[in-house]
Amino acid sequence: MKKKTLPLAFWIFVGLLVGIVGGLLMMAAGEGGIQFGKTYVAPIGTIFLNLIKFIVVPIVVFSIAAGVISMKDIKKVGSVGVKTIIYYMCTTAFAVVIALVLANLAKGMFPLLDTAGVSYESSGPVSIMDTLVGIFPSNPITPLANSTMLQVIVIALLIGFGILLAGEKGEVAASVVESFNEVSMRIMDLIIKLSPIGVACMLAPVVAENGPKLLQGLAAVLLVAYIGYVLHAGLVYSLTIKTLAKISPIAFFKEMMPAMMMAFSSASSVGTMPFTLEGAERLGARKEVASFVIPLGATINMDGTAIYQGVCAVFIAACYGINLTLGQMLTIVLTATLASVGTAGVPGAGMVMLAMVLESVGLPVDGIALVMGVDRIFDMGRTTINITGDAACAVIVSKMEDRKAQRA
Ligand code: ASP
Repeated sequence: MKKKTLPLAFWIFVGLLVGIVGGLLMMAAGEGGIQFGKTYVAPIGTIFLNLIKFIVVPIVVFSIAAGVISMKDIKKVGSVGVKTIIYYMCTTAFAVVIALVLANLAKGMFPLLDTAGVSYESSGPVSIMDTLVGIFPSNPITPLANSTMLQVIVIALLIGFGILLAGEKGEVAASVVESFNEVSMRIMDLIIKLSPIGVACMLAPVVAENGPKLLQGLAAVLLVAYIGYVLHAGLVYSLTIKTLAKISPIAFFKEMMPAMMMAFSSASSVGTMPFTLEGAERLGARKEVASFVIPLGATINMDGTAIYQGVCAVFIAACYGINLTLGQMLTIVLTATLASVGTAGVPGAGMVMLAMVLESVGLPVDGIALVMGVDRIFDMGRTTINITGDAACAVIVSKMEDRKAQRA
């Protein structure tokens, strides 16, 4: 009789539970337990995340280049690109609106934390032109070495375009790219097998350390952010998946569960990318579309981050006794959408970009210190939403392209 093996998603879920229970036990054991988590458990999680980060750049380069090659037509890449950017921008702006409505409704619940003496050093404003220039690499190696994702994407697109334009002479390069793409995917499969252990070891120290901080008056603002995350997924992703991709939202979330659990544990969209790709492909997204849309999304599409920034802006304003006007709220919608585009898909990046949102409406940047202590808890939820949005877009754009091809 064939032995039935349980799916990896089940084991990742077990890892998640072990991480939470283990973290609570460490917390209960006091300072010694928390220290044990930091010294012996967290490094194992770091090894796992390092392995994922190691494979992410080869995956992005080879899968995007292979995707462009298999589309065979630069115009088709443009059509996928335009749809992707429209979906990303609209859903992010919607996310901030949800966040602002919720946070304003819940304002009365927020405890007014003492703002005297809190301070936060912002990294200074970044101009839009600098950001634009920063997308284009000036050498082919450094962006790969530093995982500068937007530049890596540009490199991969250019390699793909070059191979297409070279025609017959580019065929050898095309086979090399396709072969390396396959090899990187196999390496990724090996690393993903370790994810249940990785998830448990990443989560336990976070639970042990953050548990007590929840009691310090931040539970309400965390709850509002999490309600925002759930509403956004339930409304925006469910509706767009149902109407534009004609897929049942339940099937969508079920297939995305392993990636969502990984995002929750790692707080890194980039680190979760291999899982997001797999989930989207299981849902019928075409490989060449997913391999372009998802790495791009892991870098510029951050709906969860935008929700967090909207909620925190209202919370910080309330703590300082400031009432935001409608004009200021609209400014927040705009800046939080842009700030989330500029947020890197790594843990904690969204908090750094919150400074930009606060500055745009004249709120004190020092207020970030009020929510800094529990940033990881915000981050786990916002990353989960961020990657779910990337996958939703990949599936939707893929299905739309399929329908267009059928009509043609
Ligand atoms: N950690 C988030 C992500 O990787 C970014 C953020 O900090 O908001 O998607």
